Parts: sequence; structure tokens; C-alpha cells
Amino acid sequence: MLGLLKDLIINLSLVISLIFVFMKLRWGRNQKKLPFHFSAILDGLCGGIMGVVLMTFSVELSQGTIVDFRYIPIILMVVFIGNGAAAISTLLIGFGRFIFGISLSGMLTFFISLLLLAGLMSLNTFWKTDGRLLYKASLMSALATALYTTVFIVSEPNLHLFSPVLMQFSFFSIVGGVSAVFLMNYLRTSEYLLRKYEIESSIDFLTGLKNVRKFNQLLDHYSSKAKLTGSSLSVAMIDIDHFKSINDRYGHAAGDFVLMEMSRLFEEVLSKDAYVCRKGGEEFAVIFPAAQFARVITLMERCRKRVENHPFEISDYSKLFSSVSVGISQYPSNVSTVDELCDKADEKLYRAKEKGRNIVMY
Ligand code: GH3
Ligand code: MG
Ligand code: MG
Repeated sequence: MLGLLKDLIINLSLVISLIFVFMKLRWGRNQKKLPFHFSAILDGLCGGIMGVVLMTFSVELSQGTIVDFRYIPIILMVVFIGNGAAAISTLLIGFGRFIFGISLSGMLTFFISLLLLAGLMSLNTFWKTDGRLLYKASLMSALATALYTTVFIVSEPNLHLFSPVLMQFSFFSIVGGVSAVFLMNYLRTSEYLLRKYEIESSIDFLTGLKNVRKFNQLLDHYSSKAKLTGSSLSVAMIDIDHFKSINDRYGHAAGDFVLMEMSRLFEEVLSKDAYVCRKGGEEFAVIFPAAQFARVITLMERCRKRVENHPFEISDYSKLFSSVSVGISQYPSNVSTVDELCDKADEKLYRAKEKGRNIVMY
């Protein structure tokens, strides 16, 4: 009896560890976005593997009859991923059962798994939102426990010997299922919030461009790469001309509008080749990883002209025109080390201002 308790606790600990591993592997912060179907298949396979691992740590109650928490991954797939992933997990777990021998209870479990899947999907459709997660998780775990204990009841001739065992298993099974759903929900929410804060901390709130923190990170990254591989790296500094007078004449809100609109223009021209960042105030910085110097100059010249010709419609009745000055530096064309890129671009920008503004200097 104590042995069973120990085994059930080990199984539950395993569920918790596997959920952590799954979250790290599949929903980690640095995961690349996969196409939806591919992602669902991968999640389904992970759920299936998790179920099979749980089976290998199962508790043998009598000859050929094992109990474990293999259905927990199916519940998790239905609740958090989708029906397709849950179906893949179910099939993998169903066939995986035969690794442990082909027996009557094995066959029965396979069909029960399919029945469980249908039941879980129906319950999930009934409770579409996460609002009542406790009810949903409890009912799903109870359903799974009821179905799996039925297999045991049907296939065990000396049932009376095992009723305390079944009680214990049922208790752990329902508590385990509910805990797993809540753990997954907690991890998912934390991961989502962490990602949200990470994005927000690198985005400029007014323009939606990358902020100065992100600019420094990107520059560090591409500088190391350029040092290592000898590839080229360019930086362009952009400063709006006489921006203060826009604020003074039309108001701060109009100034904000110009900043936003101009950011959009820069993105339109540059986003394929470069990272556009707002350094602060009315200053922008652009990083071109591995672009030809001539291409960088052409693109920045295109930006300058685009701004020059753009009517900024600050209200229904008035529009204004603006211009920008630009300084460009490129490693290795006009600086000998990547560490000089920012200073050189700033120096060129200063020269552009001196020369009368609305000009690109390199
Ligand atoms: P120059 O051609 O020499 O660059 O002149 P300038 O007027 O553009 O430069 P200056 O540095 O004198 O003024 C920049 C102004 O930008 C001052 C500041 O009030 C304004 N500014 C900075 N950040 C914001 C912002 O987020 N919104 C608005 N509306 N104005 C801002
Ligand atoms: Mg300035
Ligand atoms: Mg300015």
C-alpha cells in the first residue's frame, strides 16, 4: 500500500517536471514562430511522449494492469493547445501502451482513451473560456479517472482486494489532473507576461519603433558579429530639422503626430534592410547589418526625400512640411573599428546641420 502511494507521488512529480520541460522546450521565450499546423503536431507529439514516459513509471496493480497519469497530457492538450494536438497525443499514448505487452486491459485502455478524448473535447467546447478553470479541470480529471478505473474494474477478477488501492488512485488522479492544469495555466500566464514586458521594454511607446535600449542591444550584437566575421556594419543618425519650431507653432500634439508619421515613413523605406530605432526626442538611429555602403546612402537619401515631400496633415485644415538631416557611418568604409560607428555618424549629422540641414552626409 505504501509502495503504491510512493509510486503515485513519483508519477505526480514526474507530471510536474515534464510540464516544466515541455514549457521550456516549446513555449520558451526564444522560440521561433512555427506554422500553426506544424506547431500543433509538435505539441501533440510532446504530449504523447509525456504520456508514454508516465506509463513507464506506472504502478502495476495486478498482472498486466497498470495505473498511471498518462491521460493528464491529453487533458493539457485539449485545454491549452487544441483538439488536433490532443488526438495525436492520444494515439501515441494508445499505441505506446502496447510496448508493455498486448493484453485485454491494453486494448480496453486504447478504446477508453478515444472515448476520453471525445469526452474531453465536448467538455472543452462547453466551457470555451478559462474563466471556470477549476470546474473544467475537476470534471475532466474526474471523467478520465472514472474511465480508467472502469478498465481496471472490468479486467480485474479479484476486484475486492483492490478497492482501497482504487480509492487512493482516484484521489491522486483527480488532484493530479487539476494541479497539472493549474500549473500549466500559471506557467503560460507567466510566460506571456514575461514576453509582454520584454517587448514593451524594447519598444518606444509613442512611435512603436525600437527604443534606445534595443538600439544598444542590436548594435552590440552586430558589432560583435562584424568584429568576428569582418562583415560590414552601418549606422545612420537622423535628426528632424527645426523640430522645436513645429512644437512651438502647432503644439506638442502636432509634434507627436509628426514623430509618429515620420517613423512610419522610415519603416516603409528601411524595414527590409535595417532596424529603425528612436533614440529619444526627435532623433532616430538606424542599424544596417551587412549592407553595401552605396545601398545605405541610397536608402537614407530616399528617406530624406520621402520626408521632404510628405505633407504632414496635422488637422483637417492644415498640413506642414518638414525635413531631416542624416549622418552615416560605415565599418569599414569610413571608420576603422565598429566602436567608432556612433560617434562618426553623430559627427556627420552635425556636419549636415552645419551645411544647412535637409542633407545626408557620409
Ligand atoms: P535642429 O534642426 O538643430 O535639430 O533643431 P531642433 O529644433 O530640431 O532641435 P532642438 O534640440 O532645439 O529641439 C528638439 C525639440 O524636440 C525640443 C523638444 O521639446 C522636442 N521634443 C523632444 N521629444 C519630443 C516628443 O516626444 N514630442 C514632441 N512633440 N516634442 C519633442
Ligand atoms: Mg536633436
Ligand atoms: Mg532636430
